[in-house]
Amino acid sequence: MKLIIHGGFFSESSQSLETKVAKQNALKRVLTNSYEYLKTHTALETVVHAVEQLEDDELFNAGIGSQIQSDGKIRMSASLMDGKSNKFSGVINIENVKNPIRIAEKLFNTQDRVLGGEGATVYARLNKFDFFNPEIPQRRKEYEAKLESKSLGTVGCVALDANGNIAAATSTGGKGFEVPGRISDSATTAGNYANAFCGVSCTGIGEDIVSASVATKIVTRVSDEFTIDKAFEKTFTELKEIDGFCGAIAIDSKGTVYHLDSHPSMVYGSFDGKTIDVFQ
Ligand code: ASP
Repeated sequence: MKLIIHGGFFSESSQSLETKVAKQNALKRVLTNSYEYLKTHTALETVVHAVEQLEDDELFNAGIGSQIQSDGKIRMSASLMDGKSNKFSGVINIENVKNPIRIAEKLFNTQDRVLGGEGATVYARLNKFDFFNPEIPQRRKEYEAKLESKSLGTVGCVALDANGNIAAATSTGGKGFEVPGRISDSATTAGNYANAFCGVSCTGIGEDIVSASVATKIVTRVSDEFTIDKAFEKTFTELKEIDGFCGAIAIDSKGTVYHLDSHPSMVYGSFDGKTIDVFQ
């Protein structure tokens, strides 16, 4: 069993050392209890469990603490992919819910598995997800000062369970100050993808991640017998050609845990049941 999670990028310029340590501690807490959970649950159940906790932590830009868009509203996106059934589900630009990943989970066993905008919000209400305003004062302050926050704090998790199945989940509040209607990579297969060979969750500039189709390419390459490091290397070389900004975490079916970023300040950590490694 293996677990890797991320909390997006850490901005040296706009965040304090205190925040850095708090994020590292949050990752350690989530890794420890999610690994415990993985002992008795599937990879799919575990990635939702881990991402929900990261959404609930206002240090990260997902769920509570999400970035505010240019019209003053918060719209969130999240997705889930199961490497066993090869099924993907997600919500795009959902409003006023506490845990977007739980709505992606609810959609997982339905026919229309990716919902966007108002349809996603209405679906959440019909399925008893109560109104919840995910805004925190810090984000409003940033919005009012029209400061483009450099903190890309999307969250994600990839897990390999005891039966050898892989799943990936990703959740985001977006880039901040985006035009309403903009679509993040986080609820696309470019930002979150898994199959029987590999699972990947990304963070960074959604437009770059989609243009370079990062998660899809890495997983496909591993399926086509690239080693995970070579699959990352080739994909990130292609990302560089468009000057892309992205970080990704992954686990393959052999249990290899991997991470790479184009700009090295991504917050992530992994746990194999013995050693917790948290990096920034
Ligand atoms: N990828 C997200 C987006 O572009 C942002 C992030 O990773 O923090 O919406």
